[in-house]
Amino acid sequence: MARMATETERPGSRTGGVSRSNGSSPSSWGLGDGAAIPWEYAPAPESRDVVTIKDRYGLFIGGKDVAASDGQTFMTINPATEEPLAQVARATAADMDKAVRAARTAFRKSWGSMPGRERAKYLFRIARILQERSREFAVLESMDSGKPIKESRDVDVPLAAAHFWYYAGWADKLEYAFPGRVAKPLGVAAQIIPWNFPLLMLAWKVAPALAAGNTVVLKPASTTPLSALLFADVCRQADLPPGVVNIVPGPGEVGMALVTNPGVDKVAFTGSTDIGKKIAKGVAGTNKALTLELGGKAANIVFDDAPLDQAVEGIVNGIYFNQGEVCCAGSRLLAQESIVEPLIEKLKDRLATIRVGDPLDKNTDVGAINSRQQLEKITELVEAGKAEGADFYQPACDLPDRGYFFRPTLFTNVAQSHRIAKEEIFGPVLSVLTFRTPDEAVEKANNTPYGLSAGIWTDKGSRILAMVRKMKAGVVWANTFNRFDPTSPFGGYKESGYGREGGMHGLHAYVRLEDR
Ligand code: NDP
Repeated sequence: MARMATETERPGSRTGGVSRSNGSSPSSWGLGDGAAIPWEYAPAPESRDVVTIKDRYGLFIGGKDVAASDGQTFMTINPATEEPLAQVARATAADMDKAVRAARTAFRKSWGSMPGRERAKYLFRIARILQERSREFAVLESMDSGKPIKESRDVDVPLAAAHFWYYAGWADKLEYAFPGRVAKPLGVAAQIIPWNFPLLMLAWKVAPALAAGNTVVLKPASTTPLSALLFADVCRQADLPPGVVNIVPGPGEVGMALVTNPGVDKVAFTGSTDIGKKIAKGVAGTNKALTLELGGKAANIVFDDAPLDQAVEGIVNGIYFNQGEVCCAGSRLLAQESIVEPLIEKLKDRLATIRVGDPLDKNTDVGAINSRQQLEKITELVEAGKAEGADFYQPACDLPDRGYFFRPTLFTNVAQSHRIAKEEIFGPVLSVLTFRTPDEAVEKANNTPYGLSAGIWTDKGSRILAMVRKMKAGVVWANTFNRFDPTSPFGGYKESGYGREGGMHGLHAYVRLEDR
């Protein structure tokens, strides 16, 4: 069992949990002009005992827990404490080949020809087990990734289970999903996922692949392998035939060995645009199907007729959810000029109430950044924003002494040419720009190489519909942000990638359609 910090050892915690003023003044409580009464949230830590973290994890290939072919391992750490969590086998190209062969055998021998109604039973079982073990998954995910427990508990894990429920329902109904056509599985799917939503991205990829009759080799990100390895245990518990799902943590280069393995029929990738381009080159000239879900720089547009208090909640959810490490984060706020001042004032008031700290504390709103490398990237871009002349604002709040934390950050007076308005920061950093007319809003929103998501806040339905038609974004949320549902397709335009995940579109990416 990995050694865990005890309550009293927890870095930077004076009371063992998040410790900060909520920014309210005593006079606002009707207490007169007396001395300020400092108060703190009582810590509400989720128990770490609900999950057993092993000292070592192997690769999950052909239903077995195996060491890497060269015996190498790597350490995964808790980004909130910088403490080691577990040693994980580090796959080699030879291990990837072994996993692809196991997946091919499972495809030929059982899964590829199994009736849909039988496949569905396994998917329903997995969905059920994920729900039964949800606390275990939520705690593990928060420890390995740094995300707040209330998000892993209320968003990541339930949505992951929902994807299995949803696609389980399709497994025996493919003829209705694609009327008049025969949907055949593609074969072996190579799936590479990132660190921002480790279990959820696994579910987005594994559930439709299995429902359509494919087998899978999945490479989790090196900073967050643990929930995928716990999922391997769920596969065992569900009696999934060996080799249908293979989980092979390893470095990026080995991910490329998976992509280029000749035994792979389909590649699905979520991550940075740079690596997405390399993967597209890696499959060019082959018959492999490819879907890419890459970066984003979403505009969240607030018109002067929007209910500002609700919009502020949507803006906060849009950029500070999951520390802003979200491909579809609303990282550019486009505010109509006439309301920008009251909007920023309300936003600053709201930022003062955001609690940053221990991801396992149920009060925490913003947890730890996933890795030192990502923290450095955020810091570098924030420094660039200051140097380029945007106005910088952070609420006063204590950060733990150890761990990778970053305060929620707001930049106003941002120009379109600033790096913070152009580049994906992937952190809790909001850049505010302004516009006067709807046309100007559309022009600024679309002025990005990305095209993943956008948000519109207005009282007028007709304006929403008019804007949506002109916005080059795969998903446009209206009077809400960052809402996900397994029935709804998700994906981008331009440098945000191609292909869709979720809904029937997500199934389509895993089938070959033939005439009857
Ligand atoms: P990457 O794109 O490098 O990582 C995503 C996944 O790809 C990981 O599993 C990674 O493995 C793997 N990978 C890395 N290199 C290769 C390769 N050559 N061939 C095949 N697979 C590879 O993202 P980073 O972690 O480097 O993050 C950098 C930036 O990317 C972030 O700051 C953010 O802007 C963006 N990003 C976007 C995401 C999204 O959801 N759209 C998700 C994550 C990042 P390993 O972890 O072992 O390196």
